[in-house]
This record gives sequence, structure tokens and C-alpha cells, in this order.
Amino acid sequence: MFHCPYCAEEDLTPHGDDPDGWHCGACLRTFTVHLTGTGVQRP
Ligand SMILES: [Zn+2]
Repeated sequence: MFHCPYCAEEDLTPHGDDPDGWHCGACLRTFTVHLTGTGVQRP
């Protein structure tokens, strides 16, 4: 589950046609989340 990057709440719902689009029900912001990697991060 994502946390809102602005207010850290978990009250997120999908937003719009963009599969990466989310709407935060707590601060009412909409934004996109892009996964840039998983596992151990290397410098
Ligand atoms: Zn929020």
C-alpha cells in the first residue's frame, strides 16, 4: 500500500485513466507514483 507522499496518509484511491494516478482522500491531492526499483538499492 502506498502512503501519500505529501501527508503520509494511506487513504489513496486510483485516479483517472493513468494506472499510476492516485488521489489522496486526506489532503485531496492527486499525483502519480512511479516505481523506479525494488530490492537493494545500489549507489
Ligand atoms: Zn495526502
